[in-house]
Amino acid sequence: MSEHYDVSEIFGEYVFNDTVMRERLPKKAYQKLQETRKNGSELDLATADIIAHEMKEWAVEQGATHYTHWFQPLTGTTAEKHDSFITSPDHQGKVLMSFSGKELIKGEPDASSFPSGGLRATCEARGYTAWDCTSYAFVRHDAAGATLCIPTAFCSYTGEALDQKTPLLRSMQAINEQTIRLLRLFGNTTSTKVIPSVGPEQEYFLVDREKYLKRKDIIYTGRTLFGSMPSKGQEMDDHYFGSIRPRIAEFMKDVNDKLWKLGIPAKTQHNEVAPAQHELAPIYETCNIAVDHNHLVMEILKKTANEHGLQCLLHEKPFAGVNGSGKHNNWSITTDDGINLLDPGAAPHENKLFLLVLACIMKAVDTHADLLRESASDLGNDHRLGANEAPPAIVSMFLGAQLEDVVSQLINKGAATHSLEGEVLKTGVDSLPDFMKDATDRNRTSPFAFTGNKFEFRMVGSSDSISQPNVVLNTIVAEAFKEVCDKLEKADDFDAAVDEITRELAEKHQRIIFNGDGYSEAWVEEAARRGLPNIPTMVDAIGSLTTEKAVKLFESFGVFTEAELQSRAEILYENYAKGINIEARAMINITNKSIIPAVIRHVTALAKSVNAVKAACSSANVSVQEKRLVESSELLAEVEAAVAKLEEVTDAALAMEEGKAQAEHYRDDVRAAMAALRAPVDKLELIVDKKTWPMPSYGDLLFEV
Ligand code: ADP
Ligand code: MG
Repeated sequence: MSEHYDVSEIFGEYVFNDTVMRERLPKKAYQKLQETRKNGSELDLATADIIAHEMKEWAVEQGATHYTHWFQPLTGTTAEKHDSFITSPDHQGKVLMSFSGKELIKGEPDASSFPSGGLRATCEARGYTAWDCTSYAFVRHDAAGATLCIPTAFCSYTGEALDQKTPLLRSMQAINEQTIRLLRLFGNTTSTKVIPSVGPEQEYFLVDREKYLKRKDIIYTGRTLFGSMPSKGQEMDDHYFGSIRPRIAEFMKDVNDKLWKLGIPAKTQHNEVAPAQHELAPIYETCNIAVDHNHLVMEILKKTANEHGLQCLLHEKPFAGVNGSGKHNNWSITTDDGINLLDPGAAPHENKLFLLVLACIMKAVDTHADLLRESASDLGNDHRLGANEAPPAIVSMFLGAQLEDVVSQLINKGAATHSLEGEVLKTGVDSLPDFMKDATDRNRTSPFAFTGNKFEFRMVGSSDSISQPNVVLNTIVAEAFKEVCDKLEKADDFDAAVDEITRELAEKHQRIIFNGDGYSEAWVEEAARRGLPNIPTMVDAIGSLTTEKAVKLFESFGVFTEAELQSRAEILYENYAKGINIEARAMINITNKSIIPAVIRHVTALAKSVNAVKAACSSANVSVQEKRLVESSELLAEVEAAVAKLEEVTDAALAMEEGKAQAEHYRDDVRAAMAALRAPVDKLELIVDKKTWPMPSYGDLLFEV
């Protein structure tokens, strides 16, 4: 008998959520906070003091001794500095636990060591964290004890965003404002707030921690820099949705428990395509909360793995030649009274608002494909985008048979008169129920796919924050809505104008629609003919942030200033260069300290064998040892030359001034030298005695979890 486990009893146990606030806060303070959460009205200090006090009392009951302003600087992860609740000792040497409204609302971490991309000189270190009261505070339990974590935004002294959250909240304001405008034009009087909803599906690998600790490459860079394919890969498709092994199941159970207690609605878990690869998806939530929660999901996956003797790899491509990991960002636009603007309803051709919204999204994605591509780029994702199992680096939209048909009716006939319907699925087995098929099949290769009542942006990398993809989605769609509202507000005949604008937008941007196989070579050529951008690497994508088009877009909605965009581009070039530099250095080190010595041991053993066998029997055949000795020695010489070359180009890159040119040097010369070093090493791995090879193989890592 398994013991009783009621998720509803533990869900949100460690969260200072609405239920707790309603219970504990004086009514007036609760109402003021609700107003701030809903309308963004300012919270007065007296109310903040009351909330802070109650929050602290509650946190202390949970065992908390410290609080932290938890934020998302441009390092890609989260940051925190812990302060205890204690006051200075009184004359009897006693301390009290206290937490003020000021401490809740505003923090002042030294900002000088976080990336700012020239927004702030190191001497002007002041940065502020400000409470995002729309995302709940929570208590986190770990080796440090229990800590009250307050989700915050992080800005410079002069108000520039130094983080991922500030622009996200700004973009949510933009799409809220423009969507409400659009809804009002369509006669909606009930919705008062529009929020983007986001559900990120997180992929990850789990490997044995002891083996991981023997792989310096994964330790330093998150991925293998060497390694040849095992005898078995994913060709049998036997891992996807396969039965979950007990060790992994225990891990997942533990992860779910922790997530639920933190109020994160973990819902789906399964094995993924590659061996040792898995996925976790929560139920979708308000955009900024989904972003915060995804950061926590990544953190909890890593910590829990360690507790189970496992290592969680969030890197987009931990193993060359094996499926990489992404994070499908499911996105829709919903109102506070439950309308999903991406729900086509039973008869999409009659749903004018939906069709206009769809046409606007076509316009947004087509116009700003480069920005979407950029939002999904990070160092690791360069190995994934365009590789054969992931969406290619070309942004296109999949609508499915039903909507594609409606859109083509619009374009070709001027109006849509009918919608294709799903048919009855017949299994041919009497005891199985017949049921209605969806009108549309799935398409696994599209980077931006309509999936029923949401779009699924699949380019995002598994280790990346989902903040920027949502900043871009919210803002580009807000722009399309704004342009349409500007026209509709002036139209004499509203209905006719809606039809005309929808048709025009669909026609103008139809090139972005692609329902075929996005992984095929033919699509790459077709996309080029259509003029769709194909941006192969992160370095190529960064420039999209600072084009005239991007600056105009982001400035007009107050999401980023030009200076903020420039600084972000600078940080990204630096991050790229630093990332590749670490990879190159790790390769050089591992080659010099482990691989070359191991191969020398191997050839020495072969040479000794040749001599020993010949000494024992002069007529014995030693051709095998000799052949392997020659082959290994030649590869060894190749390794030596390649590592010298890698050192040379990496030194040259490091000596360059930081910026685009340096990043390009890393992208071209350093990466090529890395590949040239890897090739002979991977060949050697296949012929050197397994006991001599200095690290666990792909097979050991992938199949012995
Ligand atoms: P798939 O079959 O593509 O893996 P799932 O049904 O598992 O899709 O859902 C994927 C994610 O999409 C989940 O996080 C889910 O909550 C989220 N999702 C579902 N509906 C919406 C919606 N309307 N808006 C945003 N996200 C959604
Ligand atoms: Mg999916």
